[in-house]
Amino acid sequence: MNLFDICENVLKYDDFIIIPHINPDGDSVGSALSLCSLLRKLNKTAYIVNISENMPKNVDFLSLDGFVAPSDFEYKTAFCVDCADKMRLFDNEVFNKCETSFSIDHHVTNNEFALFSFVDSNASATGEVIHSMYKIFDILPDKNDAMYMFCSISSDTGNFKFSNTTSKTFKIAGELYDIYGEFSDITRAMYDEVTLNQLKANEYVLSNLKLVMDGKIAYSYVHYDYLEKNGLSFDEVEFLSSLPRQIKGVEVGMFIKIRKDEIKVSLRSNKYIDVSKIAASFGGGGHVRAAGVSFFDTSFEDVCNKLIKAIENEIKKRYE
Ligand code: AMP
Ligand code: MN
Ligand code: MN
Repeated sequence: MNLFDICENVLKYDDFIIIPHINPDGDSVGSALSLCSLLRKLNKTAYIVNISENMPKNVDFLSLDGFVAPSDFEYKTAFCVDCADKMRLFDNEVFNKCETSFSIDHHVTNNEFALFSFVDSNASATGEVIHSMYKIFDILPDKNDAMYMFCSISSDTGNFKFSNTTSKTFKIAGELYDIYGEFSDITRAMYDEVTLNQLKANEYVLSNLKLVMDGKIAYSYVHYDYLEKNGLSFDEVEFLSSLPRQIKGVEVGMFIKIRKDEIKVSLRSNKYIDVSKIAASFGGGGHVRAAGVSFFDTSFEDVCNKLIKAIENEIKKRYE
């Protein structure tokens, strides 16, 4: 289904409940807010599921006031954003209770689980797709909408730095700038402003860093024990996910979060390895240059061995 068909169908439904993915990130929050605002500008009733306790730290300055669904809201239509799989929805129950479902996403691994689905894997962020919806409906984003979409796109492109950043991304950012104005306060809040303990986490993660395969693979981890001792949350060390990939010569970087009941791996690549494929082979997913996968009931060593082997195999293919 193309985006025009999605927009045409949106007009036929009402009482939307917007659902991002679990552990929402800047893109899911920014796209949920800008979509909610767009639906309201179309005279629809729309709210976002209650993500207030799960706001990602980098965009927690965005206010959810008036956007979170009141408990008695009788929603009818689910609108999923930035989520590739039904099992990864922030609230599966809400989705199942809806009569109709829409989904807008940009993950290559999206399995089109909603009735009306649109996936643009060339879009840097779901916020880009929402921006196209504003265009289709010929609705001008207001200042807040521009901020939401900027946060969404900036978050998924590493502030216009990753390879998913296209001329369209820059063009949209230019249009958002013309509406919002200077974004420097926002980008400082999103990237530069950290607490001293967050900054010190760099030292810990660097001390855990290991290089394998002649420096083509780099990985490090953060253990929940360390975070507890330093009053940090996993969310607050998210900014270190891309650190292993920064090293010259590294093709795949892994950042591993050792939680009490889960080992979560963030995979990042630089030039030629499709990490979404590797993540998918272990039940995860994501994008070509940034993907994730979770392991349960297994050890850190086992996770490292399995992933390193899989990555090595992919890298070797290139040299065969
Ligand atoms: P992360 O490493 O958590 O920053 O995730 C990188 C990308 O992969 C994001 O677009 C996530 O939505 C996606 N992703 C992370 N974990 C999973 C998973 N277990 N299954 C599917 N997609 C994932
Ligand atoms: Mn996301
Ligand atoms: Mn996204």
